[in-house]
Amino acid sequence: MGKSSKDKRDAYYRLAKEQGWRARSAFKLLQLDEEFDLFSNVTRVVDLCAAPGSWSQVLSRVLIKGEKFGRTAWQDREAKLREQMLGVFSTGNLEPIAPSEPVELPQPRKDVKIVSIDLQPISPLPGIITLRADITHPATVPLLLKALDPDYDPQSGSQQAAQPVDLVISDGAPDVTGLHDLDIYVQSQLLFAALNLALCVLKPGGKFVAKIFRGKNVDILYAQLKIFFERVHVAKPRSSRASSVEAFIVCLNFQPPKGFSASLEEPLGVGFRLPQMTKDNQERSAISATTILQNHTTGAWDSSPAVVASPDNDGITELQAEDYRPLDRLADVRWIAPFIACGDLSAFDSDASYRLPADHVSLDPIQPPTAPPYKRALEMRKAAGGAYGKTNIGKTTTKADRVMP
Ligand code: SAM
Repeated sequence: MGKSSKDKRDAYYRLAKEQGWRARSAFKLLQLDEEFDLFSNVTRVVDLCAAPGSWSQVLSRVLIKGEKFGRTAWQDREAKLREQMLGVFSTGNLEPIAPSEPVELPQPRKDVKIVSIDLQPISPLPGIITLRADITHPATVPLLLKALDPDYDPQSGSQQAAQPVDLVISDGAPDVTGLHDLDIYVQSQLLFAALNLALCVLKPGGKFVAKIFRGKNVDILYAQLKIFFERVHVAKPRSSRASSVEAFIVCLNFQPPKGFSASLEEPLGVGFRLPQMTKDNQERSAISATTILQNHTTGAWDSSPAVVASPDNDGITELQAEDYRPLDRLADVRWIAPFIACGDLSAFDSDASYRLPADHVSLDPIQPPTAPPYKRALEMRKAAGGAYGKTNIGKTTTKADRVMP
């Protein structure tokens, strides 16, 4: 598909280039913020799976430069208009209201810290610390903690941030294979990796936003997240194609269960012994967080005892192997998160094609991928003389010929 044709079919791709965003994903974060006011009272943020960097650009423009977008900008405009109208009523001065001028100068925030991580290199963004690392690898925790707090000593073995963060966002996506179940499984592993990192660095009251693929059993995942956050929503921004299984979980007010301590040596989603401590014993399930998370990812069960809080002891009880229940009896730990479609209704529809003016000039992407995973394949194809290789010219190609190395 040519650039111009893509401009027509994907309004957000075109807008991203026009507005200087490195990827169309920027609009997803902006539309999530419009709905959930994600950036209010936020100065310390971790952006996981951040390349090429459009979410980091949003963070930079909102937190470092102090620009306002979406709902905040509208609220300011409304307040200004109200002020002007009050002025008219109180003075009796019936001068027409001046056309809306820029409402406020940008207000950069103080003590902003933003750390962005990806497997791929991220081109530098002023004021943002970028790390090239795998979020599923335990060695990434000390790297992140050091980036957040230069005094952090990796020898201390601590996996908790001394200076925690207000918001963790993750737009992580694997290279999609097209095999639906496999893609959903790999995506869920990325989500657990993001959650485990978030648990190490979030401050109580903090927020966690992450991409999910809505598949079978996603309601178990919502129930798991509910262990740690007071409010959990699933949101679909208008810039995310309706035809895609992609959505975002928006988890607000981080309230880890009493006594819970995060550790990537015993990560949620793969480990067996993490305690589930409940904030409110009455409300919470008597099945350990470890058990539930284990079930979601692998469907298998472990017989090691887990620790749970129970309503009658207000403390800790050991669960024995017989307390573990198979998936089909876990209906009580499923929970349907409220689903919210977000983004202004007047915003572009990401599944629609739009007519472009005759004089439309298609712009180049702001930030071509720095080291895309398919780079080597392209180089090999070029070296072989094109799509099917020089040796194949004039010859009928078979399916086997077309398989990339
Ligand atoms: N939010 C980004 C933006 O606005 O520019 C776009 C993120 S892109 C959809 C998904 C990213 O996830 C890719 O850059 C990919 O390299 C990254 N990713 C996938 N698996 C990862 C892993 N295990 N660790 C770190 N990053 C990973």
